[in-house]
Amino acid sequence: MAVREELLRNIRSVEPYVPGEQPKENDIIKLNTNENPYPPCPGVRQVLNDFDICKMRLYPDTNSDVLVSELAKKYNLDKSQIFVGVGSDDVISMAFMTFFNSDKPILFPDITYSFYDVWAEVHRIPYKRISLDNNFRINPNDYKSENGGIIFPNPNAPTGVLESVEMIEDIIKANPNSIVMIDEAYIDFGGESCLKLIDKYENLLVIQTFSKSRSMAGMRIGFAMGNSKLIKYLNDVKFSVNSYTMNQLSQICGAESVRDEKYFKNTVELIINTREKTKTALAELGFEFTDSKSNFLFVKHNSVKAKYIFEELKKKKIYVRYWNKPRIDNYLRITVGTPEEMSKLISALKEIVNV
Ligand code: PMP
Repeated sequence: MAVREELLRNIRSVEPYVPGEQPKENDIIKLNTNENPYPPCPGVRQVLNDFDICKMRLYPDTNSDVLVSELAKKYNLDKSQIFVGVGSDDVISMAFMTFFNSDKPILFPDITYSFYDVWAEVHRIPYKRISLDNNFRINPNDYKSENGGIIFPNPNAPTGVLESVEMIEDIIKANPNSIVMIDEAYIDFGGESCLKLIDKYENLLVIQTFSKSRSMAGMRIGFAMGNSKLIKYLNDVKFSVNSYTMNQLSQICGAESVRDEKYFKNTVELIINTREKTKTALAELGFEFTDSKSNFLFVKHNSVKAKYIFEELKKKKIYVRYWNKPRIDNYLRITVGTPEEMSKLISALKEIVNV
């Protein structure tokens, strides 16, 4: 039934973000949403075993103090420099609401995390997509025109391309009147964080997540780091929308995960090693790819179309990500799984591309 025109005018109608599939079958190889193939650190199991369910009667700590304290220790920051939210999606959405309030367009790359334009639409923020060059690189000079703010991931998604802190600093420096958000969802897999710049630039917000390098996508934990003034603005908006965002279990499991630095480093290292070995195997099959510094690969084959490979992999119960979008419609994004999963992927690809 169509909604009356007059009524429609009062409705915020948006085209939502489309997340990767979460198939229900058990016997699949799931390489489509950049989840970590390893479990969270063993201490998380202990925290869950020890949890007194009677505490569920109570509202969670609105400040997530246990988690913020651990993050502050790890990153050598004051607690007032950290904002936590329900996944970095929640953090970024809050940050859009808080910091992108100009009439001028916010800027982000044409090929990037496809949630940015959705948030811009839902929060009614004007935006402009800036083309990456042919190697999917950012040209910092493109980000020096008047704007209402800047956001991009580093490494970028879905390309996996890492930009240098120096280049990003150039952009931050050139935009003293705009907030620059660096979405570091994948930074732990081999990139250098811009965190070291937050005391130097009052317009920088660095956003990270527990969903990838900390194996906790299901717990929904994200965080932003910046100077305490910016973080206060973010908290004021958050407390004006919903005080009790992060649940009790996420707070204590997240804190436990931060305490186990050794496990974190080991699993990240395993993924990096598997990523590099997979690159070699893919090259032998005629694939070309960016030098991804994340936990996924962005690949195209030198003769077989990506859409066909995507569909054939699915028939073999291997899920990867494909977008029918300009400039990337011949690419696949493949999450780095365990070595066993990647060797099954390579065998399947061998059959599909006929090597
Ligand atoms: N930023 C980027 C670039 C991502 O790829 C993702 C994962 N979809 C996110 C942010 C959000 O991750 P989460 O909400 O799980 O922290």
